[in-house]
Amino acid sequence: MRHVVIVGAGQAGSLLALGLLAEGYRVTMVSERTAEEIETGRILSNQCVFEPALRHERALGLNHWDDVVPPVVGIAFDAGMPGAQDPFISWVSPLDEPAQSVDQRLKMSFWLNEFVARGGELRTHKATPEDLADYTREADLVLVAAGRGPQFDGIFPRDDNRSPYTEPQRGISLHLVKHKTDFYQGVTFGLVPGVGEFFVLPVLTADGPRMGLYFSAIPGGPMDVFTGVTDHNQHLELCQEQLRRFFPWSTAAAEGAESGGPLEFLTGRIAPVVRHGVGRLPTGEHVLAMGDTAITNDPIAGQGANNAVHCARIYQQLILAHGDRPFDADFMQNCFDRYWDYAQHSTRFNNDLLAPPPVHILETLQAAQEHPEVAHRFAHLFNDPTDYVPWLGDEETARTYLREVAARVA
Ligand SMILES: Cc1cc2nc3c(=O)[nH]c(=O)nc-3n(C[C@H](O)[C@H](O)[C@H](O)COP(=O)(O)OP(=O)(O)OC[C@H]3O[C@@H](n4cnc5c(N)ncnc54)[C@H](O)[C@@H]3O)c2cc1C
Repeated sequence: MRHVVIVGAGQAGSLLALGLLAEGYRVTMVSERTAEEIETGRILSNQCVFEPALRHERALGLNHWDDVVPPVVGIAFDAGMPGAQDPFISWVSPLDEPAQSVDQRLKMSFWLNEFVARGGELRTHKATPEDLADYTREADLVLVAAGRGPQFDGIFPRDDNRSPYTEPQRGISLHLVKHKTDFYQGVTFGLVPGVGEFFVLPVLTADGPRMGLYFSAIPGGPMDVFTGVTDHNQHLELCQEQLRRFFPWSTAAAEGAESGGPLEFLTGRIAPVVRHGVGRLPTGEHVLAMGDTAITNDPIAGQGANNAVHCARIYQQLILAHGDRPFDADFMQNCFDRYWDYAQHSTRFNNDLLAPPPVHILETLQAAQEHPEVAHRFAHLFNDPTDYVPWLGDEETARTYLREVAARVA
């Protein structure tokens, strides 16, 4: 029986582990935390997962929350100027199939227990780069799905050609709140030039439904105020203040809301990076990166967890198709290349959203207000970012499309 070791029990690692287990592989997963520690720890993400990724989770029988999670029904977009009471662009588009946000603490702890229940071997400790060499001696294939951060930097170096940013482009802040009013049950995405972005969406937690308030502040800008806040009530007050000041049309998302508690908020900064996905250890053995360990995006376009699912799906297909042949460096490079075929699109969409929007994109967002077809297409970029480059990646193509839509409607 072929033996695979996966370091990290997050969205990417757990999904691949459970997928390979179902196919008869011997799988060892190394997790720095127990299921209980994950479940009772601090929030991790806003984790909005769109239909194409949900489909893969369903195919593995891991869609345990389908009947209870509040469906994320669409995308509402607003853009306003600093100080304005109303947005100058505002539209809403339903998603053809709803997305879902199941608190990763709930999802990952459940999947970790499921992994053990289905016969997987769990080791609970923090793997070091040195441990990887030991794993290569016992397993046919070693994958590193340990999330973002520098711990495996020396093994998976940054790919400068694919990483346009060297610094974090946003100060990020998330708070899960109990909500008393009915706010739009989709993703509300607000943009204020020079300030940043605000998102809110319904989230299912172990304690019931919450709203995830997410602030994405331009570093050094007027909304970059969350660093160092340690008290959850103070953090929520700051969230409410930012909404009143910069997104007054969305204040209902937080007014009257109550903090979920001291572990229900986070702040931080994430430097987007694409790495070389195949690492060579000092022993000469190779290991393969997955999910955020391979490609880390800023959360602005809600693509990281989706990428992690697609990475697990693509790697699983290639591992199965490889049969009994050795999982050598060429095999790993092919896995990463096939993943990049997909992830280059979400990465580009994501990185472009971090930059000031060019005129043709503002024109498109404006046209979406008049033409539901344009709004629908833009909203579905979150599901399928492969449409981004062929459409909005080129100014002339974007404008031609808008002329065609206008002519059709006329
Ligand atoms: C505030 C915020 C909002 C976000 N919103 C969205 C969104 O709406 N939609 C979306 O798609 N993405 C979103 N993301 C991104 C998304 O959460 C990540 O991209 C995704 O979780 C990556 O999955 P992963 O499995 O690669 O890594 P992770 O989910 O980080 O999992 C890595 C796992 O490895 C474990 N680990 C780490 N180091 C070791 C070690 N040395 N040994 C053993 N175990 C280890 C960790 O404890 C963790 O369990 C958001 C992120 C943030 C921070």
